[in-house]
Amino acid sequence: MTIQENVPLAPLTTLQVGGPARYFAELKREDEVREAAQFAKTRNLPLFVLGGGSNLVVADSGWPGLVLRIATGGITTPTTPDTTGNAVLFSVGAGVNWDDFVAQAVAQNCAGVECLSGIPGSVGGTPVQNVGAYGQEVADTVESVRALDLQEDRIVVLPKPACGFRYRSSIFNSTECGRYIILRVNYRLKRGGAPSLHYADLQKHFAERKTPPSLAETCEAVRAIRRAKGMLLVPGDEDCRSAGSFFKNPVLSEEQFRDLGERAVSKGLEIPSYPALNAQRKVSAAWLVEYSGFSKGYATGAAGISHKHALALINRGEAHASDIVELKDKIQHGVRKEWGILLEPEPVFVGFP
Ligand SMILES: Cc1cc2nc3c(=O)[nH]c(=O)nc-3n(C[C@H](O)[C@H](O)[C@H](O)COP(=O)(O)OP(=O)(O)OC[C@H]3O[C@@H](n4cnc5c(N)ncnc54)[C@H](O)[C@@H]3O)c2cc1C
Repeated sequence: MTIQENVPLAPLTTLQVGGPARYFAELKREDEVREAAQFAKTRNLPLFVLGGGSNLVVADSGWPGLVLRIATGGITTPTTPDTTGNAVLFSVGAGVNWDDFVAQAVAQNCAGVECLSGIPGSVGGTPVQNVGAYGQEVADTVESVRALDLQEDRIVVLPKPACGFRYRSSIFNSTECGRYIILRVNYRLKRGGAPSLHYADLQKHFAERKTPPSLAETCEAVRAIRRAKGMLLVPGDEDCRSAGSFFKNPVLSEEQFRDLGERAVSKGLEIPSYPALNAQRKVSAAWLVEYSGFSKGYATGAAGISHKHALALINRGEAHASDIVELKDKIQHGVRKEWGILLEPEPVFVGFP
């Protein structure tokens, strides 16, 4: 294990802002992860676990402790007694690029993650915020998560119910934040399964078709839709220098939703919303942002909003983390003033006081 010093973090993130890590290690093996965690513990250094850096805003001052970049690899399909019928278990190293895994699953005609094609980042990052898009989320297919439990100093296998998956949330980013380093994720996919076509954008895409699309065609459709929204990383496209959606779609109680609806009616507008669990409604954060005066392409200095998607805050070139935070604050303030709702950011803020 090699520990480096003062390693710039901005190039390791998709938003490309922020300062250096005081200490940094890239780890390919589980024993190295344990060793590095011990290094931090004995020196009392704060630890941050980095995956693909696609959901982060790193502070301009950087990270004062140790950053561990998890690079444990390998995609295997172990045959276990509980692999029944068409179910296929994939055991995937946390450091594997998520999109590479999706491509491999689709190439093997396995359904369950085809709508999550084109999401940047690592496999280890996917359970953290229960990554989701176009009608699928990893909670649908995660079987278990293998992790180093820093509290108990041992490797554990957490079955799906223990992960506490909810919309953009799990124990890993809420109740047990900072406790686990994810080493591998096991997904249960369905060989020969039909693609998931619940999402309106996908149904529209295939509206003219007489026969159902294959998994590969569904994947391609998702990528085309994502590309049009600047949500697929395309080299050289400024709109991709982002952390994806910057705000979560607010989930409102019936009463909050009624209040919002009344505000909208008084402005002659109708808010796009979708049913959520427990009689709640999920409201489009992009819509709220746009109808608070922040349209696509909006810019203040080096920070801005993507030309293709109102929810993606972008680094227009030389932005600092402080520029991004300033724009975030401005949007939150504007939406609150206009609609009475405080938008919750989706990315993780690293090294901020
Ligand atoms: C263009 C673009 C489009 C996106 N589209 C989507 C989308 O459609 N849906 C969606 O849900 N997200 C989307 N995202 C956000 C992001 O890609 C996902 O959240 C992704 O899963 C983050 O993984 P990562 O490896 O990059 O994690 P990082 O950004 O490196 O880290 C994010 C968090 O996960 C933790 N973490 C990462 N790896 C581990 C590990 N091995 N063990 C423990 N903790 C870990 C980090 O400590 C941090 O708290 C998008 C981002 C971009 C830039």
